[in-house]
Amino acid sequence: MNRVDINNLVRENIKGLSPYSSARDEYVSDGSEMVFLDANENPFENGVNRYPDPQQRSLKEVLAQQKGVKPSNILFGNGSDEVLDLIFRAFCEPKEDNIITLPPTYGMYKVLSGINDIENREVLLTNDFQPNIEQILEAADANSKLLFLCSPNNPTANSFSSGKILHLLKNFQGIVVIDEAYIDFSNEESWVQKLGDFNNLIITQTLSKAYGMAGIRLGICFASEELIQILNKIKPPYNVNELTQKKALERILNVEKVKSEVVEILKERDMLSKVLLQLNFVTQVYDTDANFVLAKVDNATNRYNQLLKKGIVVRNRTTQPLCENTLRFTIGTKQENEKLIQVLKEIQ
Ligand SMILES: *Cc1c(COP(=O)(O)O)cnc(C)c1O
Repeated sequence: MNRVDINNLVRENIKGLSPYSSARDEYVSDGSEMVFLDANENPFENGVNRYPDPQQRSLKEVLAQQKGVKPSNILFGNGSDEVLDLIFRAFCEPKEDNIITLPPTYGMYKVLSGINDIENREVLLTNDFQPNIEQILEAADANSKLLFLCSPNNPTANSFSSGKILHLLKNFQGIVVIDEAYIDFSNEESWVQKLGDFNNLIITQTLSKAYGMAGIRLGICFASEELIQILNKIKPPYNVNELTQKKALERILNVEKVKSEVVEILKERDMLSKVLLQLNFVTQVYDTDANFVLAKVDNATNRYNQLLKKGIVVRNRTTQPLCENTLRFTIGTKQENEKLIQVLKEIQ
């Protein structure tokens, strides 16, 4: 258990803010036939002529049930990138506060710290890609508002040890953000069930990876009601559009399909890991808990270019700390992976 004083972490200007009240916030339909003349919309029906539900109630209800939380523990954003930006703007005072990130990790945390003018204190992962607990807690001070734990981590593909995450949750005095973009591929439990134990815990997930909906941009934030209310105050009123809400609802109602695709991706992933290990220019294949494989090769930039010439685009991660000469392979369809393997054998 850890109880931090959330009010003490929120920026002064956000504390006193009352959110923009939209027409759809002021009058909530109870299902009866009403004539809507309150939002200056065009009245002719075309499926999207009305503003979307600013609180995405239908979507929250279904997801809350699936995840075992309350709808009031959920906030949606235009991708998790928007959710992350809202978190910065709620807690981090420009030029005063700082965040802690653990490279090599997802690039957006650093980009958002730059945009919001917040110092980014980087504490490298250990050689086995785990959080360096002692150094993280040493780097933290009273202005350390956010700690980003990406687990499974991108680009290293591994999950952080749950004991280490727990230790940080108990001892870090700011908000701990666990980015679970790849949790559906992982053997580890989500931290969503632990929301009740830690009032400084925020978990982000997304429909962009396992759910196969990167194009609709739907990011998910799970947190205590207190934290969700703070983020709700600053989110743009209609940040999740009608088409996205509809598509997302269809998809999460068909969660069995998502699960069967994940099973197939995992089977392909384990196959690819084995094949990579047999290639003479691959020196290491890292354990993966995600839908991609990180591999160390003789010369990542050369191999990247060779693949590109043969029509295959992978991610060269060689400039990332601890990732010298690594390539990141996203798992494709069976046919795509076969093509990849054929080309990998050709360039040996
Ligand atoms: C892909 C990814 C996301 C997804 O971001 P969206 O904006 O929801 O598409 C978030 N975090 C990590 C670590 C990722 O790799």
